[in-house]
Amino acid sequence: MLIASVSLLAQKPHQPNSAEIYQSLKKLNVLGNVLYLAAHPDDENTRLIGYMANHELVNTAYLALTRGDGGQNLVGSELREGLGVIRTQELLAARRTDGSQQFFTRANDFGYSKNPEETLQIWDKERVLHDMVAVIRQFRPDVIINRFPANGGGGHGHHTSSAILAEEAFTLAADKNAYPDQLTQLDVWQVKRLLLNTGRWWNKDINENSEGVVTIDVGQYNSVLGQSYNELAALSRSNHKSQGFGATGSRGEQLEFLEYVKGDQAEDHVFEGIDMTWGRVKGGESIGNMIENVINNFNPNAPEQCIQELITVKSAISNLKDGFWKAKKLAEIDQLIVACSGLYLEAVADDYYTSPGEKISLRIEAINRTSDQASLTRIWSDEVKMDTTMGLSLDRNKNNRFNTTITVPQSISYSQPYWLVSRQTNDGTYSIKDNDAGKGENQPAILLNAEVNIAGQKMTLDVPVIYKWNDPVKGELYRPFYIIPPVSINLSDPVVIFRKNQSREIDVVVKAGINNLSTVVKPIIPKGWKVVPEQVNVQLEIKGEEQVLTFKVTSPNKQQTIPLKFEAVMGNDIYNNGLTEINYDHIPSQIILTEAATKLVNIDVEIVGSKIGYIHGAGDLVPDGLRNIGFEVVELENEDITLENLIQYDAVVLGIRAVNTDKRFPFYKDDLMKYAEQGGTLVMQYNTRHRLSTEEFAPYPIKLGRDRVTLESAEMRILAPKHRILNEPNIITNADFDNWVQERGLYFPSEWDEKYTAVFSSNDPGETAKDGSLLVANYGEGHFVYTGISFFREIPAGVAGAYRLLANIVSLSK
Ligand SMILES: [Zn+2]
Repeated sequence: MLIASVSLLAQKPHQPNSAEIYQSLKKLNVLGNVLYLAAHPDDENTRLIGYMANHELVNTAYLALTRGDGGQNLVGSELREGLGVIRTQELLAARRTDGSQQFFTRANDFGYSKNPEETLQIWDKERVLHDMVAVIRQFRPDVIINRFPANGGGGHGHHTSSAILAEEAFTLAADKNAYPDQLTQLDVWQVKRLLLNTGRWWNKDINENSEGVVTIDVGQYNSVLGQSYNELAALSRSNHKSQGFGATGSRGEQLEFLEYVKGDQAEDHVFEGIDMTWGRVKGGESIGNMIENVINNFNPNAPEQCIQELITVKSAISNLKDGFWKAKKLAEIDQLIVACSGLYLEAVADDYYTSPGEKISLRIEAINRTSDQASLTRIWSDEVKMDTTMGLSLDRNKNNRFNTTITVPQSISYSQPYWLVSRQTNDGTYSIKDNDAGKGENQPAILLNAEVNIAGQKMTLDVPVIYKWNDPVKGELYRPFYIIPPVSINLSDPVVIFRKNQSREIDVVVKAGINNLSTVVKPIIPKGWKVVPEQVNVQLEIKGEEQVLTFKVTSPNKQQTIPLKFEAVMGNDIYNNGLTEINYDHIPSQIILTEAATKLVNIDVEIVGSKIGYIHGAGDLVPDGLRNIGFEVVELENEDITLENLIQYDAVVLGIRAVNTDKRFPFYKDDLMKYAEQGGTLVMQYNTRHRLSTEEFAPYPIKLGRDRVTLESAEMRILAPKHRILNEPNIITNADFDNWVQERGLYFPSEWDEKYTAVFSSNDPGETAKDGSLLVANYGEGHFVYTGISFFREIPAGVAGAYRLLANIVSLSK
């Protein structure tokens, strides 16, 4: 891999400059691998990774066990699978920046986990280990560096699990009885040592004199790159935009401490006792000197001058016995020859997507920038049954462009991210093919092979089909090319809420993936429900065209949650995919195919009162949920929050973290309290105790804590069965806590004034009772409610019991 291509336009064929070529030449003479290992996108230490890849010049990779699907999204509305796709691309972008590689396992980031026992129970531990072992056997790290300790110092259960599993994988990778299925293509591999990239978070006393600790100064300056590794690390880390991790680089000494965990102990240097010269390959001793000469003779004004020498090195390596380093270094040399020649080769499609069976037109551009003889002799792809033999001579700096048309076979796969292809995914792991273990992303949808000849050297290059266009503001933009279904059916809401016997209209957007689409779109009507019309004929002439269909859906008389699926029938074929595009400037555009379905939730819920004011905090979808069950919800801006204005509302609800995020909260707080005192219901959802805009956010003292109940099925014991909040207008029972998602609640208060009534008691297994999830107090003529219950998750997910409880909360003063 060519080093440090700092490019946001990930799809643009990268033309390495002389500095990058020089770095890569130096790397050709280093035969070592290091694997950094942790749980999530953002756990990785980009300083240490950048240092390893560019200073030690070893092949460096980060293995993130998950894709970060369980987090929050600071750049858009995607969550779960969509967020996992974004964070995958952010990690790949980070690795392009710091010059390393990225691996994953099939483990799903299912959300916060308090301990490794829980994590390893939810993940399919045996399959996650399978993938880790496969990565180790493919990549063959000499050293593995854990981000987290196995003793729990890293907090999150996923973090601790990553360390525990790393120790197991270390042993298993070398064991021929472990995962023997992998050994048809890979060999067992013995990692030399496992280290912990310790930190002062969990080891306050660590320093460069600590016993058994290897210290590295990763703050060094690289004059070829024109930056220090901590500056490079900031650029890499700033790719994690969905997490708001834009980072500012620093300069100067920066010590990292590596603590011994397993394998051979090192005294002074991380790669101690490992031969990282060509001496490690039998018969390869002389190759190091040959490469040293290429490096010494390198002329940045004319990199092409080293092509002949590289060809000599290549033939010397070709004479070695087949093996890992031979294959790896031959591929690096081919890339270097191409880079030195300034060869530019791209295949651009006439659109960014097509469907199986369709024709696409490709425009191929090839140009050679050396005085060496070069030619393009063949372009082919087994996938699309294309094979063109040619003898196109590539004269120096003469641009060659030509068009060709290919037919995409019916059998080609859609461009669904490979870990989302199977819908049998459970909470803990994605269902993938074992052969895909470790892979970051799909291969390009169509990958051409090009045979070129440079200075008498025949080489085969990968040329992905891409799409590019000119944006009047941003300039030339690239995006990947996709294969999509001929028709997609998109539903705007993943969940539609009904009250009993209610009719609602559902809009369905049908989009053509081909020209002259003719199809019949049908709902698959669940028993007891009514949906009209029962089918609609759709004719769309132009690829990309859309038609909106409206269906009237009527719910039955009983509480029920059921999917409403749609399908498009074309002859004998049935299509049932929705299509989501993910477009951001910092990552290549992505698509996700979903099921063309929405969840119908018919809730037996009564409401009292009609008008609710909502003050947003960090952002949540609770207002839409309240509208769904019949409330009029007004989202209040700062100037609306006056006592005279608030009086009209039956309840005023604060969004999650409003006291944290709204700096003006202390100034309008008194009006909110007076509103409650005069008979209103004021509902405050969870805040965190750090960065509160005021400690006095409630009428009677409440001290916030960090208690949370992460098990979504944890028992909710009722402490105040007679309280109005559990009885009017809806009688809340244990059944209302069925089918919750992700958790019960978070950041519960730890202490509160006796004027509050604690309504529920709950806890995760093995923990003491936590009683602060829902606190309610009479205040003057009205009520104040503080709740850490995760309404912000349960309401958008259509959890019926959460709706019924929330309806009672906002109805308290009526
Ligand atoms: Zn993490």
